Amino acid sequence: MITVENLTKYYGDHLAVNDISFEIDEGHVYGFLGPNGAGKSTTMNIMTGCLSATSGNIRIDGHDIFEEPEKAKKLIGYLPEQPPLYMNESPLEYLRFVGEAKGLRGEALEDQIKEVIRQTGIRPVLNRRISDLSKGYKQRVGIAQALLGNPKVIILDEPTVGLDPIQIIEIRDLIRSLGKNHTVIFSSHILSEVQTVCDRILMIALGKLVAFGAPEELEKQFSSSGSIEVTSDADVGKLKQALSGMGMISAISAKTLSNGYSAARIETKHKDIYAVSGAVFRACAAADVTLLEIKVNKADLEDVFLELASEKGEVKRK
Ligand code: ADP
Ligand code: MG
Repeated sequence: MITVENLTKYYGDHLAVNDISFEIDEGHVYGFLGPNGAGKSTTMNIMTGCLSATSGNIRIDGHDIFEEPEKAKKLIGYLPEQPPLYMNESPLEYLRFVGEAKGLRGEALEDQIKEVIRQTGIRPVLNRRISDLSKGYKQRVGIAQALLGNPKVIILDEPTVGLDPIQIIEIRDLIRSLGKNHTVIFSSHILSEVQTVCDRILMIALGKLVAFGAPEELEKQFSSSGSIEVTSDADVGKLKQALSGMGMISAISAKTLSNGYSAARIETKHKDIYAVSGAVFRACAAADVTLLEIKVNKADLEDVFLELASEKGEVKRK
């Protein structure tokens, strides 16, 4: 559906997007995740034909965005980070204007307007001035204009920024529902948002694509560390000794709790945390140390994100 090949963008001598390549398939919601300044907006602006690239290729359904911009752009609806809303107009006037700019006329235009009003739930505010709308409704109007013409791909740049918590939930629900009939790409610097809304994550940091895949795949692929906490009724020295003979672990700390039990925390870099927890059970059993409680803390995507985002954009793979 969309192919991005070796995309690079310099602003003057500042490298904002550094040789990014990826493919977007039909029928998924993609989350473009990265801290501020990562290069998300730059990439989206180039993919939608709003900004030139320094080098690289982008094809939308086979159409090169630089060589056949009209054909390529027809396939994309875009909500930029700063949506170009006309504040003095009503949403209805604005949608009519954008629809005409997209080449829609007559009944086709009216049908499309009705459809996007329904999809985005903006009927209650249709005839108010856009400047008087809440940020949530403004964002809906922005999404409505992106949907006009029923493009295959919808690209939304940080659609939830500046919204209150209820509006955020509503916009996330809207994005999910758009995903049923469109390929959706939206950007965010909030991991939990990307995790709850999308089924594919593109993680970028300092202009580099550092990870790409389904959330659970990324967790599996990148989770490199975790910890295990145990509680025992054995003496703390005995507990520590039982554990210290094990492989796979990078550090152990142990202490006596105020209730007289002992506790230990085991750090590991092992890929499979359950291999380590299994070994903890066996090591304690072999030393006749009874475990009362065991807690496995898996590295989650949050850890992966922080780790990758802080690694100066270097691709890190096992
Ligand atoms: P994001 O959307 O992920 O926050 P951007 O694509 O907006 O990131 O920015 C990527 C980098 O490019 C940042 O370092 C930013 O300061 C820089 N940048 C963005 N737009 C411009 C511009 N018009 N001129 C110069 N530098 C820019
Ligand atoms: Mg941005």
